[in-house]
Amino acid sequence: MSDLKIYNTLSRQVEVFTPAEAGKVRMYVCGMTVYAHCHIGHARAMMSFDVVYRWLLESGFDVTYVRNHTDVDDKIIARALELGEDPLALSQRFIADLDADLGRLGLLEPTVAPKVSEHIDQIVAMTARLVDRGHAYATDSGDVWFAVESFEGYGKLSGRKLDDLRAGERVAVNESKRHPGDFALWKAATDGEISWPSPWGPGRPGWHIECSAMAAEHLGTTFDIHGGGIDLVFPHHENEIAQSECATGDHPFARTWMHNGHLTLVDDEGNPIKMSKSLGNVIDIRDLLDEVPAEALRILYMESHYRRPLPFSAARLTDCLMAAERVYLAREVLEAMAALPVTASPEELAGDLGEDAAALVESVRGFKAAFTAAMNDDFGTGRAMAELFDLVRAANRYANHKKWWKRSAALAQEALACFDLAGRVLGVGGRPSAEFFAELTAKLLKRAGLGADDVAAKVAAREAARASKDWAAADAVREELDALGVVIMDGADGTRWRLNVDGGSAA
Ligand SMILES: [Zn+2]
Repeated sequence: MSDLKIYNTLSRQVEVFTPAEAGKVRMYVCGMTVYAHCHIGHARAMMSFDVVYRWLLESGFDVTYVRNHTDVDDKIIARALELGEDPLALSQRFIADLDADLGRLGLLEPTVAPKVSEHIDQIVAMTARLVDRGHAYATDSGDVWFAVESFEGYGKLSGRKLDDLRAGERVAVNESKRHPGDFALWKAATDGEISWPSPWGPGRPGWHIECSAMAAEHLGTTFDIHGGGIDLVFPHHENEIAQSECATGDHPFARTWMHNGHLTLVDDEGNPIKMSKSLGNVIDIRDLLDEVPAEALRILYMESHYRRPLPFSAARLTDCLMAAERVYLAREVLEAMAALPVTASPEELAGDLGEDAAALVESVRGFKAAFTAAMNDDFGTGRAMAELFDLVRAANRYANHKKWWKRSAALAQEALACFDLAGRVLGVGGRPSAEFFAELTAKLLKRAGLGADDVAAKVAAREAARASKDWAAADAVREELDALGVVIMDGADGTRWRLNVDGGSAA
């Protein structure tokens, strides 16, 4: 049913994607540890899998998308202690902020967003099963470790070998571990720390076990896609496989493993800059969104393939803002055209109006196949964006003709369907926010040295002339506005106006 191909980290190959159950996709993505705000790097992972989810939905799959919140963790506990706040109250606060930030970025909500603190029973049960099956051991101190040597498949995702883990270990080996690669499933509580009861005494889960337990709870013991950032391949995902396959006896835990590349902050010459708390240059999404509209940010994230590094710079933000302006101005004019009662077919227009009309017809007719091919090729958002930009250029050129209103509504509707497809899948090209458009209009007016009131007054004068059937006067006002670069759009819902877009090369 689908020609989708995905690069699988597990097989190190691009594979034809076939879900275990026809028509259904079960997907798990590692979410955030919620003790700080979502920054531009976190957003890369969130955005990458948002598009995977959107494309699977668009392809007709019934998708269960699980993205967890890590709300129990050393860093959360440390931060809570610092702030004198209850750790779960703190993480709940950051979850609410994260949801708000991702909402502003236009991300779809996952089907389920489970929290560690609500799955302690499942985590304890899975840990107990691993102990029973001889894959884990408890120590006198009340910690439980996973024994990596008990799992033959250890290292199959990352390619690491157990001997290498031993060789890489420094002198300060934890005495209670049997192998340096063994990792904590359960950590005994220290005094006053948040804890839950367990057969090994009060404590809390280690990091990796949560995803194994929550995936099993919400998706079953094997499922289709597991995703996360490239930095999670080892040890987190390697350990998830070990825990899950040993606890359930089922394999593979996940059939396809997907990993997104890093976002790198770069200067305008393209040289990487380290982003860190200590340097004070971590860019939180909420702060960035106060400066740059989500419409532009999404373009920035979509232009790079998810597996490649994403260079992030102020210069690129500026470029993406300009690109967003062209995309949404093209959409605006197409919407106005689509509402007109012009019945000429696109083919007739292409014959009558020359090469710009013909180019738009060609671009529109080829769009869906080219866009689909790009997305089916391991979610090629960069190529899909290039297709959209080609369409935008063609639409803007066509719109800039004089007497553009004598265009085919049918062609505009077909073009809008292409914009809508890109909007549903990439989050670029659909209806922009009213705020985005208001700001854009204000900016273009300023650039043209016009006041919105001046334009509105002229539009009103033309309306009055039309109402009294003084067509010559109405046309004169239109000519005057046209000379200023203002295009009048008469539609069923009244007259709108927009500033002319040059059909130039940059979109
Ligand atoms: Zn995880």
